[in-house]
Amino acid sequence: LAVLFHRQCRLFSTSSRARTIMPAWVIDKYGSNDVLRFTKNASFPVINYPNEVIVKVFAAGLNPLDVSMRGGYGAASLSMMRDPLSIKQSGSEFPLILGRDVSGVIMECGLDVKYFRERDEVWAAIPPWKQGSLAEFVVLSGNEVSHKPKSLSHTEAAAIPYVATTAWSALVNTGGIKKDNCAKKRILILGGSGGVGTFAIQMLKAWGAHVTVTCSQNAELFVRELGADHVVDYTAGPVEEPLSMLEKFDLILDNVGGGTEHWALDLLKPWTGAKYVTLVTPFLQNTDRLGIADGMMKTAATVSTKVIKHLVKGVHYRWGFFAPSGVALDEIREMVDAGQIRPVVEETFNFSQVPQAFEKVEKGHARGKTVVQIS
Ligand code: NDP
Repeated sequence: LAVLFHRQCRLFSTSSRARTIMPAWVIDKYGSNDVLRFTKNASFPVINYPNEVIVKVFAAGLNPLDVSMRGGYGAASLSMMRDPLSIKQSGSEFPLILGRDVSGVIMECGLDVKYFRERDEVWAAIPPWKQGSLAEFVVLSGNEVSHKPKSLSHTEAAAIPYVATTAWSALVNTGGIKKDNCAKKRILILGGSGGVGTFAIQMLKAWGAHVTVTCSQNAELFVRELGADHVVDYTAGPVEEPLSMLEKFDLILDNVGGGTEHWALDLLKPWTGAKYVTLVTPFLQNTDRLGIADGMMKTAATVSTKVIKHLVKGVHYRWGFFAPSGVALDEIREMVDAGQIRPVVEETFNFSQVPQAFEKVEKGHARGKTVVQIS
């Protein structure tokens, strides 16, 4: 059966390869770290659409989302993305491979892929409804992939795509920030020392913004070295007090959530188009808890109420989301190769240490990224 399936998939690809299994870390059910299982017999990815590529993974970046997904977070919505017509049985996502960042080499191209060739070095952020990068190979759409920065090793490159495309989506697509309208804008990043924050600081500084960051006292030097102009220690007391003494902001990127939105929007310049964009949204929890239809209704009601409540005060309230984009990664590659953005790899693990890498991410207090070297 596997051979027949591969023959059919070869209609869309140029390869005559007949390999059917590969090594990977998988989960067979949701739970804590002990659900992670190494196997040499994971299904080899296949090209199902002519615009897809198979990438040999050299390094895989981990994100807090991987830890949450291991525990079942987002399962309802992600299952719907994988199987919109609900044809498959529940649990058909298993064995599930986690890992959202990849840096590697193109191994095989679908027949419509024009922009990449076999052996091209690439990087990508993998959407959470697809099989991830904690495996020897992964299949992606060509439009999710980009040529990797020449100045970075695979390990360094794997620290960037997911947080970069998230920050890009939040700041550029949702926040309306661009290279040519960013100079001197006052931007506040709540939670600057983790993956998204360390990337966002560098991107905004490269585009000429004035960047204020909140973080722990012991991360102050770290974020200043990345370019932060002003740093506020959130562990020293209610952080909104020192922030409210500062000149107001044009944009706030919130990587922290919780109670922040009760006070953060008061820090924006009213009636100037200023925006608050939070990455911490209840969207996936709502669909996990209430099911797809009710969860989406609840989400729509929540966000529209908040948007209107703040609009009448002259400021904009928005939710930001990760969006896979090879085009955004192309632009980010140029900034990396120009020396404007550097990867921030906090710790690396080898392929046999994936459970330890998850433990590290789960402990929190990130100072950049955790990367697994696959080969
Ligand atoms: P990380 O875990 O890499 O970083 C979080 C950072 O925030 C840590 O450095 C932590 O350090 C710091 N921190 C914790 N509490 C506070 C606080 N109260 N004030 C300031 N800093 C704080 O996470 P990411 O950067 O990868 O992601 C950030 C958030 O964005 C996460 O909640 C994530 O789930 C979300 N996200 C959402 C996406 C979406 O599509 N909506 C996509 C990607 C991320 P310390 O505790 O030592 O202070």
